[in-house]
Formats: sequence, structure tokens, C-alpha cells
Amino acid sequence: MKSLLLSMILFLSVFCYGCENTTARGDLPDINHEPVEANLPVEGKIPTEAEHVPPAAETENNLDDVLYLHPNELGQVMILMYHEIGGEEATWRRSVENFRYDLEILYQEGYRPVNLMDLISGNINLPPGTTPFVLTFDDATLGQFRYLEDEEKKTVLDPDCAVAILLEMAEKYADFSVAGTFYIYYPIPFRQQAYVEKKLKALVAWGFEIGNHAYNHENLAKISREEAIASLAKNVQATLNYLPGYQVRSLALPYGARPKEDEHLVTGTWDDVTYRHEAILLVGANPAPSPYAKNFDPLRLPRVRADGQELPRWLEYFRQNPHLRFLSDGDPETITFPAEYADKLSEIAAGHKKIRTYDPDDY
Ligand SMILES: [Zn+2]
Repeated sequence: MKSLLLSMILFLSVFCYGCENTTARGDLPDINHEPVEANLPVEGKIPTEAEHVPPAAETENNLDDVLYLHPNELGQVMILMYHEIGGEEATWRRSVENFRYDLEILYQEGYRPVNLMDLISGNINLPPGTTPFVLTFDDATLGQFRYLEDEEKKTVLDPDCAVAILLEMAEKYADFSVAGTFYIYYPIPFRQQAYVEKKLKALVAWGFEIGNHAYNHENLAKISREEAIASLAKNVQATLNYLPGYQVRSLALPYGARPKEDEHLVTGTWDDVTYRHEAILLVGANPAPSPYAKNFDPLRLPRVRADGQELPRWLEYFRQNPHLRFLSDGDPETITFPAEYADKLSEIAAGHKKIRTYDPDDY
């Protein structure tokens, strides 16, 4: 720790540029504008995963190089909640145009998608100065994942469904991973009977996650404990029928409804099927704490409603309060944050990772 401090002081004396943390303010920038650079590494080049793993001997120096970005891995993370994609914008519906806009604005402002399971296990491998966010889609609606038939009767992915738009983003930007969790219910997730199996297999192959949204979207606060266990297990059983061996690891509560006694939401057994949810998602209404923070509770994860009000509101909140936003140091094995937040760190969540603190005023 002492040598670390010493090297930080030395470093400081020769390397204090970019100390100002400029942020974009005002209206949402047009998506055609240049990327907002405040939260991105300089040089205009974002290292890929393979590139930014430094040789062991240089790790410390390379980490010093990113402190001017003010990494804060105890900052908050947005878990976005979408329902229907396509059609006219409405309360639980995002138009295709707005969905594309959301993804672009998030990307341009330095947000990068990660899967929920990677977030909750603290497995965050992002370029320095970027912020993880999680995409979640409830209800397995048609607009989330739709196949069409072309003139030759060949099955093609609808380029305007959410899945196609996400794949397109991943194609367009090397550091936009295919990630997102689909909270599906039965009997016909994504509403095309003939393609249920094809879709579930494709989602997993692409790198998306499949979560539990009860068997038939039951309100888990209004049915008995036994009925709730059956509903949750039947969902997992149905997914396993299509995807043998797949682990359903998270639950989004239908209607956000949570029974008072709720241990059975985490694990339960019915008809020889046992489910285990490592994460439970609520419906509202704010960003989640960092997975390394003491107040991070994977069984009560709040989500930000990705509509025309809430998502812009929180994006603006983080523009105005950049110090509250999770900002990666680019090293998945080290947790970096301003020293003043040290009491927020959960030692358990940090596990074997290296801890590194600094004073933002010095960089
Ligand atoms: Zn739902």
C-alpha cells in the first residue's frame, strides 16, 4: 500500500493533465454529433478486450495512466427495463427509432452493455473510462425478436426488432458487446409459435441471457406460495425443454409484485425442477449501486424505465453528477475508486481483486 501511495505521489508530480472532468450538459445531443469525449480515453482509440490486458510488470503504471479519467468502480449502474419495441411510443412501448436512439446515445456517452450475471458477479471487463449498463427486456414480446419470411420464403431476422438492432450495434462498434437479458413467459415467448425453439437457441448462441418472468406472467404477490413456486419452476422447466442444461439465473417480477414472504422467489422445487435465482429485478425506478458496494443487493435490483422520460432523466443526472457514475479503470482485476468512498466498499464483493484508491483532486 505504501509503495502504491509513493508511486501515486511520484506519478502526480510529473503527470497531472486532464484533471478537469468536463461533462456534456444541456439537451441530449443529436445522435449524429461527434461522440461525447469526456468519458472516453484520449487518442480516440478504445482498446479492445485483448489489447487492454497489460503485461503484469506494467500493470501499475498503466493503471496510473487512467486516473485522470477519474475511474469510480463504486459508482452506480443503470439496469434498463424495456417491454415492447416497435409501433407508436407508449408507456410500455419504445418505438424502433427511439430504441436505436437510446443505444446510440448510451454508446456515445461512454456506456457499454454487460450481461446481468457479469454485473452481479463483478466480472466487468470494459475499456477505461466507460460505464457498464444492463439491458433487460420483459414479456418476450414480438417486437423484441421477430422473424420474417422473405420473397423466397426464407426465414430472416426482422431488422427492426430489438435483437437485430442490438446485433447491428455490436457489428458497428467493436466494444459494444452482445448482451441483455430476456425475461420470458410461456406458452409462446416472442409470440411466434413456429420459432420459439429457434429463437431461444439463437439468443443464447449470440450471448444474450434468458431469465424467468413466471410461467404465464402471474402476479406473484396475489397467488399462494405453492402456486408461485409452481409458476417459477414451470417457466424454468419450459426453458429447459428448449435449452437442455441452460441455467436460468435471474427473475424479473411480473408487475414488480413481490409477496411479503419472499424466500421462495430465490429458490424452490416443483415437479423435480429446482430453480435458483441469483438476481431478482424490481420494476422501478433508479440506478443500482455498484456490485462492489455494501448496499448492492442482487435480490432487490432496481431498474430504470427506458422510456422518453426516465432514461433521459438519469442520463442527465449522470452528466450533472459524473462522480456518482460507475467508471471503469479498464482492469477487471482491480477495483479503483476515489479514497473518500472507501467505506462503501464491500470486502466480500471485492473478493481477491486488488483495491486501488486515489484522490481525484490530484489528477
Ligand atoms: Zn412483465
